[in-house]
Amino acid sequence: MVFKKIYNNMLQSKLFYKTTKETPREAEAISHKLLLRAGFIDQLMAGAYSFLPLGHRVIKKIENIIRRNMILSPVSGQEILMPALTPKENWLKTGRWNNFEALFKLKGQGDKDYALAATHEEVIVPLAKKIISSYKDLPLYLFQIQTKFRNEARAKSGLMRTREFIMKDLYSFHVSQEDLDNYYDKVSEVYFKIFKECGILTKGKNRFTFKTWASGGSFSKYSHEYQTITESGEDIIYICKKCGAAINKEIKSQMTACPEEKCGSTDFEEKKAVEVGNIFKLGTKYSLPFDLKFRSKDGKENPVIIGCYGIGLGRLMAAMVEVNNDDKGIIWPKEAAPFLVHLVQLENSGKVKKAAKEIYQNLQKNNIEVLYDDREDKSAGEKLTEADLIGIPYRVVVSERTLSKKSIELKKRDSGKINLIKENQLLKFLN
Ligand SMILES: [Zn+2]
Repeated sequence: MVFKKIYNNMLQSKLFYKTTKETPREAEAISHKLLLRAGFIDQLMAGAYSFLPLGHRVIKKIENIIRRNMILSPVSGQEILMPALTPKENWLKTGRWNNFEALFKLKGQGDKDYALAATHEEVIVPLAKKIISSYKDLPLYLFQIQTKFRNEARAKSGLMRTREFIMKDLYSFHVSQEDLDNYYDKVSEVYFKIFKECGILTKGKNRFTFKTWASGGSFSKYSHEYQTITESGEDIIYICKKCGAAINKEIKSQMTACPEEKCGSTDFEEKKAVEVGNIFKLGTKYSLPFDLKFRSKDGKENPVIIGCYGIGLGRLMAAMVEVNNDDKGIIWPKEAAPFLVHLVQLENSGKVKKAAKEIYQNLQKNNIEVLYDDREDKSAGEKLTEADLIGIPYRVVVSERTLSKKSIELKKRDSGKINLIKENQLLKFLN
């Protein structure tokens, strides 16, 4: 089942990872440094990363948050999976073979040209044409979570600007602009839910992620980006102090007042940000070159109206770390943490090992995802420092001291609050 948690629990002595104190000089963004240092990702080359087990679990959690919100909500998407390898002809049809600067092009057998897709209009529109013929086939909402490529001139900032990346892309097909407009607003609401679950919408009283007015390109007056404020961000946004809407730099130079309905304020705050998602009204831009039409109720043939909606999963993961960290390491939000509990066996006496193992098995029985630090060659200090760096929401320590008080020590990573509690209270607390 696609919504299930990932239940494979883990002994830290077997975990494929290595923490480091040093990071490469080019790693400037805090998310880049921490994800490398804590062993979540590994850089193969500039702009291409492996996700190690800890990082992979976070990506899968994010994927499931997005998938649930794409299916079980007014978005009502159907999931598909399209190829990354695509034929040149389709890109010629839309004019993007020559105009899309960052398109990865390659040669196959017999000198045939291909592109590694950076986006999927060139695949999904001809695909939809095979099924859509009448207004009865509309509206239609399709999405995928898939790997994309961009031939970036400057890949940097770890997962924030890569040449290969995982993306959720949703495409909606409509009979009218009005139907697209309504759906666009629904997706926009659901995007906020996703970013909230991923812990980047707000933190305490501060707002971090903003729906940001952006240029619509040649096909629509405006589109929207979802921008998360961080000093490592490469984008600049202007946040309206009156209504909290934001405008990107490109748009700001064309307008002086806030474009939100009934606002019109001219008081803005400038912030650096990273784009974690975007939504576009494409209109007929891609239905026309592929001749995607539907027959209306009165028998007329009309072009299908299209919208597209993206979220970059690696970017989102990086943004989560940018927003949620302290000087000790990462602070994962519960919903997307690699594990819920980090169980630390602080010493190696038979008594401590036995007690820790029992808790491990008990948590497993109760379907609680747990990373068990069973290593015997690490000091207590090393284990606790590493637990803070990795950033799992709840740290449970079993030691001679806690056992002497017939208790375990529970630390919440986000508040730093430590309590001695009884083991049976732990399950109640976590459930
Ligand atoms: Zn405003």
